[in-house]
Amino acid sequence: MPIKLVTTVAGLHAESARLLTSRQGVSQGLVPTMGALHEGHAALARTAVEQNDVVVASIFVNPLQFGDAVDLDRYPRTLDDDLALLEAEGVDLAFAPSVEEVYPDGEPLVRVTSGRLGEKWEGASRPGHFDGALTVVAKLLHYGVPAAGLAGAGSHGSGLPAYRAYFGQKDAQQLALVRRMVADLNFPVEIVGVATVRSAEGLALSSRNRFLSDEERDAALVLSRALRLLEERAAAREPLDLESAAALVESQPLVALDYFDVVDPATLEPLAENCRETPFRGEGLALIAAKVGPVRLIDNARLVS
Ligand code: AMP
Repeated sequence: MPIKLVTTVAGLHAESARLLTSRQGVSQGLVPTMGALHEGHAALARTAVEQNDVVVASIFVNPLQFGDAVDLDRYPRTLDDDLALLEAEGVDLAFAPSVEEVYPDGEPLVRVTSGRLGEKWEGASRPGHFDGALTVVAKLLHYGVPAAGLAGAGSHGSGLPAYRAYFGQKDAQQLALVRRMVADLNFPVEIVGVATVRSAEGLALSSRNRFLSDEERDAALVLSRALRLLEERAAAREPLDLESAAALVESQPLVALDYFDVVDPATLEPLAENCRETPFRGEGLALIAAKVGPVRLIDNARLVS
């Protein structure tokens, strides 16, 4: 089916209700994005389409989460290509509102605060970023609530269609924060995390990768290599030896390492022991961020042993 583009909240509600009714749908999925879509977003869309009767993808570059007006201005906008990618994955509705539609009264007075979890790692170098991101995610999650009282919607017992929203593991801190917001504030939605999609060489796909030169793109591979090293050591129950993995990153002159640590996957607090000498046991999340040329890149890996 051709994808339908809607730009207003009223239009989104009308179209989603129409589709749920005509399909006797019992579930709706939402895939929030900022556009400039690539295979990573496609994986989110594909998962949502597999799991839901109706799927909405939102495309909105949220000014509230950009500290820097230049970064906001040069964020890539590729609506026609985005619609083609979403349509190929079977997404029903693309919701691409204007800034005025989302913030009709200008910047919102009341916002979501991301607390301690939003102040570290990415939050430390981008103050206010996660408050802005969570505020728009809260709004998007509300826009995407499926219409109640539709035919067949009672089949899973609640009388309401099931509602799921899809986020990439690539942005691990954002995913952890969204899960906390939904739990702490009782949003009626199930959050589904989707594994990071990488290039054949291992680089985590990102809308910002297009700003890398060929040389910088090659240099950036050191991030995923360092993460893979930790994954292998964890799986082999060897000491992680984070320092030697960090040294590998720092040996690459085009890469300026910001942080690299192993944390608890839910709280993002550093694990007390980074297992320099003792074998790694249990579960952890390795987080890495670095500037490569003009671009700030983040990546992460689950460590399990
Ligand atoms: P963005 O458009 O960058 O805000 O990302 C929208 C969603 O796509 C977020 O939930 C991201 O975590 C997710 N995403 C971005 N890149 C990837 C990737 N390489 N693999 C999986 N998900 C991704």
